[in-house]
Amino acid sequence: MARSYYAGIDIGGTKIYVVITDSKGAIIASARKKSKAERGFATVMERVHSCVSEACDMIGIATADITVAGVGAPSPILPNGVAVSAANMGWRKVPLVGKLSSLLGCPVYAENDCNAGTYGEYCLGPGKDAKLLVGLFMGTGLGGGIVVDGKLTSGVNFMGAELGHMTISRGGRICGCGKKGCLEAYASKTGMGYKFKEEILCNKRESILVELTGGVYDNVKSSILKKAWLAKDEVTVETLTEAAEYLGDGVGSIITMLAPDMVVIGGGVFEALGRQLLPIVRRTAKEATYPVASFRDTKICLASLGDNAVALGALEYAKSRFAANGAVG
Ligand SMILES: [Zn+2]
Repeated sequence: MARSYYAGIDIGGTKIYVVITDSKGAIIASARKKSKAERGFATVMERVHSCVSEACDMIGIATADITVAGVGAPSPILPNGVAVSAANMGWRKVPLVGKLSSLLGCPVYAENDCNAGTYGEYCLGPGKDAKLLVGLFMGTGLGGGIVVDGKLTSGVNFMGAELGHMTISRGGRICGCGKKGCLEAYASKTGMGYKFKEEILCNKRESILVELTGGVYDNVKSSILKKAWLAKDEVTVETLTEAAEYLGDGVGSIITMLAPDMVVIGGGVFEALGRQLLPIVRRTAKEATYPVASFRDTKICLASLGDNAVALGALEYAKSRFAANGAVG
């Protein structure tokens, strides 16, 4: 019997990451490339193609040998595979699935990256078998996803679940989306940038971040945040604690709204400092949950798939769509 191969593809503003798995779900090859998003959609698609080819070359197969490929991208994705809008890629209504399936020569399905990441935690991570699972991913921004009864929920127009853009402060900090006061503008590396600049530049506080970042406080690398936290840098500890508290407020609101059985928290910041930050999120979420709602029925835990979350989640999603379309995945 011919062996089966599957591809999971994570397209981000800075990098493309591809994994190839076997029929048991084990990763047997992977490749990464810069996305060069500033050169436009066609270039990114070519680079995805060459990244998948590179991973296939490692195990001596062609891209057309892939049974099904799943793609996660930072945009809402319509069921017909059109990516509606990805600000950091410069995309508006681009035919993501159409283009990739013709380049790769295999069936392709796509989902929003954080929806895919949440679905991955549902299928392969601690969220396995949760009835209602919410995923939150803190990196440059704050992404989210919701899985109900085993299905991703993206609402009437497939634009959900943008949990990071819930308004938490009327007229508050300006968010990357153009609104003011989004949770993301407080609970993300972008949000931390506001606080770093306020403390270091305006309040003239000392911090090892001045040296570690070269004075650039927007989107500080998670590895640098970890280094500064472990060095007990006051500004860093205060800022990360505040971001985790804001996230906890958001989690409490989500528990009040949805009463999920599990909230999984991941993304670069939590991969680096999850053990340190999770207790802060739990404490704040408990305070922020409607008292009548039973906080203890919701487990709050760390995501488990790390860097593979989007690629593997998108692949699981693609397999489920492929199987539902009558082909055995
Ligand atoms: Zn926003």
